[in-house]
Amino acid sequence: MGGKLSIVATPIGNLGDITLRALKTLEQADLVAAEDTRHTVKLLNHFEIKKKLVSFHEYSNEARYGELVGALREGKHIALVSDAGTPVISDPGYGLVKRCVEEGIEVESLPGACAAVTAVTLCGMDCSRFSFYGFLNTKSGVRKKELGEIRDAGKPCVIYESPNRIVKTLKDICEVCGKDVRVCACRELTKVYEEVVRGTAKEVLDVFADREAVKGEFVLVVGAARHVREASEEEIVRALQESLARGMTKKDAAAYVAALLGVPKNRTYQILLDL
Ligand code: SAM
Repeated sequence: MGGKLSIVATPIGNLGDITLRALKTLEQADLVAAEDTRHTVKLLNHFEIKKKLVSFHEYSNEARYGELVGALREGKHIALVSDAGTPVISDPGYGLVKRCVEEGIEVESLPGACAAVTAVTLCGMDCSRFSFYGFLNTKSGVRKKELGEIRDAGKPCVIYESPNRIVKTLKDICEVCGKDVRVCACRELTKVYEEVVRGTAKEVLDVFADREAVKGEFVLVVGAARHVREASEEEIVRALQESLARGMTKKDAAAYVAALLGVPKNRTYQILLDL
């Protein structure tokens, strides 16, 4: 009989958010692979669960992978947890799940708390489609390129951010996505001092830039950039005509105006063909 890896979501701040299934799985598993065993032992103690813990984090070496996969092959049941929320989502776990999938080891995922999903449901924007970036790159150039992709995506995007970088990130959002883009900043979700600030990027920036010290964990939802929705046909036609007058080829003009106004290239090209 093969073993099983259970991916177990744990609370992101409010212990009441643990699920019954998570508790049962943690009780029944042969061992718990945890991002930080000191952190997880507190959670297990709170629920009076005594279990063997093994550390498993983003720097875990091949020996640790071998140990866990070996135990699974022998039929053991391993529960994988991170410090908070859903493992794998900006947290360790992907490599282990991949190995299990490759080796035909059973994997199950127990849904539960996830900061990104909680923020999406709270933001008040149309998130029938959204993208998730996790933590933006710390290098300024790469970060701005990522924000450019977010601006041009035409749908809200979820970003994880630390308190010491939140103001800088909001400034970058103003610069790259525009001051008027909708932003929802969710701080300390599910905790006693939960705070949700909604407004334009500039309004949200002003709230946090004015604070002496910004504390707590953040999720930002950046709305679809205004110009993606608002570039009118007249605007596109005008920009295309100006580009052609400057000597651009039709293909270059369509690509340039698409990037300039943040509209899909096939739209500018179609309008160009009808000119
Ligand atoms: N796997 C986790 C999940 O399912 O949400 C995310 C782990 S990631 C290492 C940690 C980041 O998630 C934090 O830096 C913060 O951006 C976000 N986060 C986690 N808990 C949060 C909370 N209670 N309130 C706001 N953001 C939170």
